[in-house]
Amino acid sequence: MPNEPRLTSPREVCGLLAQLGHRPNKGLGQNFLIDANILDRIVATAGIEPEDSVLEIGPGLGALTERIVPKAKSVTCIEKDPVMAKYLKSRFPGLGNFTLIESDALDVDLDALFSAGINKVAANLPYSVASRLMVEIAECEHRPARMALTIQKEVADRLVSPAGSKHYGILGILTGVFYENTLVKKISPTCFLPPPKVWSAVVLMTRREVPAIGKSEYPLFKQLVKSCFSQRRKQIGTILKRMGIEPVDLILGDAGIEHSERPECIEIERWARLAELLS
Ligand code: SAM
Repeated sequence: MPNEPRLTSPREVCGLLAQLGHRPNKGLGQNFLIDANILDRIVATAGIEPEDSVLEIGPGLGALTERIVPKAKSVTCIEKDPVMAKYLKSRFPGLGNFTLIESDALDVDLDALFSAGINKVAANLPYSVASRLMVEIAECEHRPARMALTIQKEVADRLVSPAGSKHYGILGILTGVFYENTLVKKISPTCFLPPPKVWSAVVLMTRREVPAIGKSEYPLFKQLVKSCFSQRRKQIGTILKRMGIEPVDLILGDAGIEHSERPECIEIERWARLAELLS
């Protein structure tokens, strides 16, 4: 794209935004990645092959998009901001493998996109909806094989922390049923324009061959985890007793869980066994 502004040059990005008459929208999490190494790292983490169909949520000005388009069979982008959407259409005109959906990603039927063949996601997610999107995607029936995402570092900690650690909780468990989550790289605020107040991180989510719990037991599993974590400092035996579950200690014993354990110490596999026994 010889005549287009370089999206890794702060000066050129500022010039482009001025030309578009646009000020980065905080509510939409518009912190544009301007570090070429990080952008390349996200693409490498997604492991994009020529036969892959990729979804990007929140393409913004297209810094990541322009790296994915030459590598993938197809790229579908969902962008909520009409100014960004209009610019993207002019930056990637008439490309056979590029599709733009101008919408709020939360209003898009993501499972329909995945069932139509999208098998990877690469994105610098809007932080306000990142956790919700990760869970919604994980819960899709045709969930993608691999996702490389930039998210807030604090959310990344919750995504990857094992049972027993202070960040372990609902996000890590619900996504962990379907994905192996790893933190790939921490990102300094200075890699963005404008810089956010917090650190970020690139995470990799690789689909598990077999989810930790069956499709029919998942709704009960989710409800159980959510209500137990709303009382995370209490003992699991006490929580279940208050829910009217009987005989608590027998069921817990069968799931390999002690009455006195706290929700934050129970691994996904033991939550799954407990949900199976209760279902
Ligand atoms: N991908 C670009 C980059 O890396 O520089 C921009 C990433 S910026 C963190 C997030 C982008 O998501 C913005 O372009 C914003 O307009 C868009 N966005 C925010 N909320 C959205 C939503 N609910 N659905 C779709 N796009 C959204």
